[in-house]
Amino acid sequence: MSFTLAIVGRPNVGKSTLFNRLVGKRLALVDDQPGVTRDLREGEARLADLRFTVIDTAGLEDATDDSLQGRMRRLTERAVDMADVCLFMIDARTGLTPVDEMFAEILRKRAKHILVAANKGEGAAADAGVIEAWNLGLGEPIRLSAEHGEGLNDLYTALLPITEELALTRVEDAPDTDVAVDVDAEAAPDHAPTKSKPLQIAVVGRPNAGKSTLINQILGEDRLLTGPEAGITRDAISLQIDWNGTPCRIFDTAGMRKKARVQEKLEKLSVSDGLRAVKFAEVVVVLLDAAIPFEQQDLRIADLAEREGRAVVVAVNKWDVEPEKQQKLRDLKEAFTRLLPQLKGAPLITVSAKTGKGLDRLHAAIARAHDIWNRRVTTAQLNRWLEGMVAAHPPPAPQGRRIKLKYMTQAKTRPPGFVVMCSHPDKMPESYTRYLVNGLRETFDMPGTPIRLTLRGQG
Ligand code: GDP
Ligand code: GDP
Repeated sequence: MSFTLAIVGRPNVGKSTLFNRLVGKRLALVDDQPGVTRDLREGEARLADLRFTVIDTAGLEDATDDSLQGRMRRLTERAVDMADVCLFMIDARTGLTPVDEMFAEILRKRAKHILVAANKGEGAAADAGVIEAWNLGLGEPIRLSAEHGEGLNDLYTALLPITEELALTRVEDAPDTDVAVDVDAEAAPDHAPTKSKPLQIAVVGRPNAGKSTLINQILGEDRLLTGPEAGITRDAISLQIDWNGTPCRIFDTAGMRKKARVQEKLEKLSVSDGLRAVKFAEVVVVLLDAAIPFEQQDLRIADLAEREGRAVVVAVNKWDVEPEKQQKLRDLKEAFTRLLPQLKGAPLITVSAKTGKGLDRLHAAIARAHDIWNRRVTTAQLNRWLEGMVAAHPPPAPQGRRIKLKYMTQAKTRPPGFVVMCSHPDKMPESYTRYLVNGLRETFDMPGTPIRLTLRGQG
C-alpha cells in the first residue's frame, strides 16, 4: 500500500529534519543557511514496514515579504492536494502562533487526513506546547523530536489506521517493473503501467542549459522559484504534475553547481544527483543549449541514459534566440547522428523554455518515447518477422556450420528486450545482431529506444 504524506507547517518547525529522517540524508539538504530548502521535495520514505512518498514543503525561511508568504501558501496548498495524508507540524517549544492557525485553516479546508505533530518535543520545555496543540482541534498531537528521532513509533501508530482506510478505498498500483531484469532471466510478466502511475521524466543537461526554466514552464508557475534569490533550486527533487493530461513525475537536477552560496556542498551532490535522476527516470530529456550543443558533458549523460536503458529525448533549448534556424537544425541533426549513433532515431525537438514554444511537441515526443519503451511485440509476430529476416539475409556459417535461429520472444519491456534461441550463439557476428536490432526498430516502429537482444543456445 503506497500513499503520499505531506509535511506542512510554518518555516523552522523542523519539517526538513523529519523529511531527512524519513527519507535518509542524501536526498535533501537541511542547513542553517537561509534559502537552502525552499521547495516541494519528494522522497521515498520508510517508517518501520511502511513505504510511502513524503513531500516536504520546506522552508521559505525568512519569508518576511508578502510575495514569499503567498508562494509558501500556494506551495502548501499544492502539497496538500497531492497528498493522501498531511502531517501538520508545529514547534512545541514555541507553542501555537498565528501562522500555525493559518496553516490549520488551509488543512481543515483541503486535507483528506490530518495528523498533528508537536515537534521539538524532547524535554520538559515542550510540555506546554504539546498540550496547546490540542487546541487546533485536529486530534491528538503526536509528540515528536525529529532531530532526536523520538516519537516515530507514535507517528507509525497514527499512520496505520489511515493506510488501512486508504487501502480500502483505492485499487493498488501495479508493481513497478524491475528495470534491472536481465533478458537472460525467464520471460518477465508484463507489468503494464496503470494509467495512474506517473511517467517518470528526468531533465538533464549542463548548468545553464535551461532546465529550471523548462520545468517552470511546464509547471506553468513559479514552483521552482528560479530567479535572483541564490540557492533556490539545486538538489535533485521530483515534482509530480499533470502535463497536458499526462501524470508525470519530473526529476529536476537543475541548478547543479551554479548557486555560489552553497557551492561546496552541492558540488558533491550534483554529479550523483544527475546519475540518480537517470536511474529513476523512464524518459530522460537531454536538454542542450542551442548555442553550445553536444558538449562533452551532454554526450556523456546521453550515453549514460542509453546504457541505463532509458528512453531518450533530445531537446535543443533557447531556440527563440537562434538566428539561423534552418541551417542550425541541419547541423544539429548531422551532429546528433555522428556523435550519438547509439541513439539512432531518438527525437530531437527544438524548444524555448523561456517562451514555451515547442513544449507541446516535447510532450508528444516524451509520451511517444515512453510508449515505445513500453512496447510489447507478440511472439507470433516476432517469429513471422524472424523468418522473413533469415530468408532475406541468412546468418553466416562459420566453419561450414550455419547458425540456426530457432525462435524468439520478447523477454521484457522498459526497454524492450528480446531473446533469440539459436545454435552457436557465441559464433554470431556482431553485424548480424545489429541487422536484427535495426530490423526490429523498423518493422515494429521502435526508434530511439534502447533495444536489448540476447542470443541464447539451447543447452
Ligand atoms: P523547516 O523549516 O520545517 O524545514 O525546519 P528545519 O527542518 O530546517 O528545522 C529548523 C530548525 O529546527 C533546525 O535548526 C533544526 O535543527 C531544528 N530542529 C528540527 N527538529 C528538531 C527537534 O526535534 N528538536 C529540536 N530541539 N530542534 C529541532
Ligand atoms: P539550468 O542551470 O539548466 O537550470 O538553467 P536555467 O533554467 O537557470 O537557465 C539558465 C539561463 O538561460 C537563464 O538566464 C535563463 O533565463 C536562460 N534561458 C533558459 N531557457 C531559455 C530559452 O528558452 N531562451 C532564452 N533566450 N534563454 C533561456
